[in-house]
Amino acid sequence: MNSRNVIAAVLGVVVLLATGCGTEEPVTPGEVAVEVPRPAGAEELTEPPTAPPAADCGDPTASLRPGPLPAPNALPAGSTMAQIRASGKLVVGVDQNTYQFGFRNPFTGDVEGFDIDMAKQIARAIFGTENALQLRILTSSQRIPALREGEVDIVIRTMTINCERLQEVDFSSVYYLAGQRVLVKEASGIDGIDALGGKRVCATDGSTSLANIAEAPSKPIPVKVSDWTDCLVMLQQNQVDAISTDDTILAGLSAQDPFTKVVGEPIDDEPYGMAIPKGQTDFVRFVNAVIERMRTDGTWRDTYNYWLRDLLGPAPAPPVARYRD
Ligand code: GLU
Repeated sequence: MNSRNVIAAVLGVVVLLATGCGTEEPVTPGEVAVEVPRPAGAEELTEPPTAPPAADCGDPTASLRPGPLPAPNALPAGSTMAQIRASGKLVVGVDQNTYQFGFRNPFTGDVEGFDIDMAKQIARAIFGTENALQLRILTSSQRIPALREGEVDIVIRTMTINCERLQEVDFSSVYYLAGQRVLVKEASGIDGIDALGGKRVCATDGSTSLANIAEAPSKPIPVKVSDWTDCLVMLQQNQVDAISTDDTILAGLSAQDPFTKVVGEPIDDEPYGMAIPKGQTDFVRFVNAVIERMRTDGTWRDTYNYWLRDLLGPAPAPPVARYRD
C-alpha cells in the first residue's frame, strides 16, 4: 500500500466509526459534552491560599549592600562562596515552563532564558566558568522548601520579593521588575480583573499571583495548578476564564497561543529577587555585587535584549537597587 492509500484507509475507518459502521444515525449538530481531563492537581480554591500577610517589614526590596567581588580563585576562606566552589557546582532552582525566562528549548532540550543567564553569571563569578552550573527544576510552590532544605544554593525563578517570604529566605536586590496582569482569550471581550467577578482565574500554587487573585475586589474564583503551562491548557479547554500573573509569564504564554491576549493595567508590582537560604549574608552581598556589575557593564541590557525584547518591547533601564547595611 502506498502512503496515500494508507491515509485513505485510515480515514475510511474513521468515517465508519463516526457513522456507527454504516447505520444511518443522524448526527445532531451542536455541542457534545465531553469530559476533558484537568491538569493533575488543578483545584478551585474556596479558602484564601495563604496565611494572613506578614507584618510590615519596611521596604522588602532593600537588600544588603554589595560586598567585594574577588576573583574566583580568591574567594574568602570559609565563605559561602568558597564552600559552593569546593562542592564543585552551583545548584540553582529554576523554572522550565516560563517561555524566555526559564524554559526547555524543544530543539536542544536545554533549559534556557533570562533567569538561566542570570544563573550563569553567578556561576561564572564563583567558578570562572558556567560549566559548574547545575539547574534544579522547581514549581512555584517548591521554591522556598528547596531553599530551606538545602537542595539548592539559590533560586532564580521569577520570584517576587515580599515581607512574607523574607521571614523564610533572604533576597538579592531587585534584578527585574514585573507587574501582575491578566491573560484572556481575545474573543472573550474580558478587559481586566474587574470583569472577572465569579469567574475562574488560574495561577500556580505557591505564587503571589494566586493570593492577588483571591484578594481582588471583583472576587474571581482562584484555580490553582502546578505549572504556568497548566493554566494555558485550562484556558484553551474553557476550564478557566483567565490567567493572572506577572506580565513576563503571560507574554510567554500568549506567544504560544495567538488567540490569547494580555489585558488590563498591572494590578500589583512584582519585583524579582534571587532567593538565598537565610543566614548567608556573605552570599547575598556577593550576588548583589554580581547584579550591580550586570547593571553597569551592559550585561543586564544585553541579556534583556536577547531574551525579552521581542516579547516585552525595548529594554527599560535595569531596576535601581535599594540597599540597607
Ligand atoms: N512572581 C510570582 C511569584 O513569585 C509569580 C511567578 C512564579 O510563580 O514563578 O510568586
